[in-house]
Amino acid sequence: MPAFPLPIPRLAIVVPCYNEEDVFSYCLRELLSLLDSMAQEQMIRADSFLLFVDDGSRDTTWEQISAACSEHACVQGLKLSRNEGHQSALLAGLAAADGQADAIVSIDADLQDDTTAIRRMVEAYRAGYDVVYGVRECRQTDTWFKRTSAEGFYSLMACMGVRQVINHADFRLLSRRALAALLTYTERNAYIRGLVPLVGFPSTEVRYARGVRMAGESKYPLRKMLALAMEGITSMTITPLRLIAALGLCICGLSLAATVYVLVMTFTGNTVEGWSSIILSIFFMGGVQMLSLGIIGEYIGKIYLESKKRPRFHVESFLRHNAPSTFQTQ
Ligand code: UDP
Ligand code: MG
Repeated sequence: MPAFPLPIPRLAIVVPCYNEEDVFSYCLRELLSLLDSMAQEQMIRADSFLLFVDDGSRDTTWEQISAACSEHACVQGLKLSRNEGHQSALLAGLAAADGQADAIVSIDADLQDDTTAIRRMVEAYRAGYDVVYGVRECRQTDTWFKRTSAEGFYSLMACMGVRQVINHADFRLLSRRALAALLTYTERNAYIRGLVPLVGFPSTEVRYARGVRMAGESKYPLRKMLALAMEGITSMTITPLRLIAALGLCICGLSLAATVYVLVMTFTGNTVEGWSSIILSIFFMGGVQMLSLGIIGEYIGKIYLESKKRPRFHVESFLRHNAPSTFQTQ
């Protein structure tokens, strides 16, 4: 057993950024002052650092990140060759931080997540937890639609037996070994918040109130939210495929009962009126079959995409002080 508390960690804070020119300077200031005060209180090592990932932004985000890298030795900047999406950008940042830090926190650039919770995360890390989940206690600042759809999604995932931390997104601390374990999951389309619980290791939660976006607009429109939800379901469970089989079984049972009914009616000299019921059952079965094919197709599409083993991202530049500029990108 390790002796607790663990030694003061070198902390990395990884921040994926996509078109975040409106919030970047605010985010940088906040996180620099947090690192500074935590280092002064000897909660983290003085060589702790921030790692900003530019996910193919089309505004001045990268220019601002590079300026911050030149100005502050504790800032690193990673530029992806194109927009790969939040999950891939976060993985790129985590892969770049791997091996450099003892504890790695990921947080969104808009600072909707409470930065002071990072202090409690580090305390939990030093108490021996490898994974510390940031859990949103109060979501009043999210829209009604976002809250309701999130609740529906969590319930759906729970019904399908997927272990997921409720009201947790990608604000968390990982220890060096938890991160190394996470990076061994090589699937192309990773759903990180579903994979982290699979990694295991001692874990705990810190609760915080989610605030509003400091500036700019959400980079998660409905289309991206639905894609992430679909990714979450198809990458974490095959329950929908089993439900199709169960549905097929139920429909077989019903049609058997209907056959018995028709036979009994025929032998007792009654005729069964049929036109409407035939039309309705044709439509119903057509719908069920198309839906089932769609679900099966979604999984087959996933196998197809995964089988190509394409890289998750390409790095265009990696800016950091006094260090080699390569790392494992897959
Ligand atoms: N983000 C990204 N790539 C994308 C979309 C978003 O790196 O394609 C980043 C974004 O800059 C932010 C984080 O992911 O740091 C979460 O996005 P946002 O805050 O807009 O999502 P919301 O809080 O509205 O769900
Ligand atoms: Mg946000």
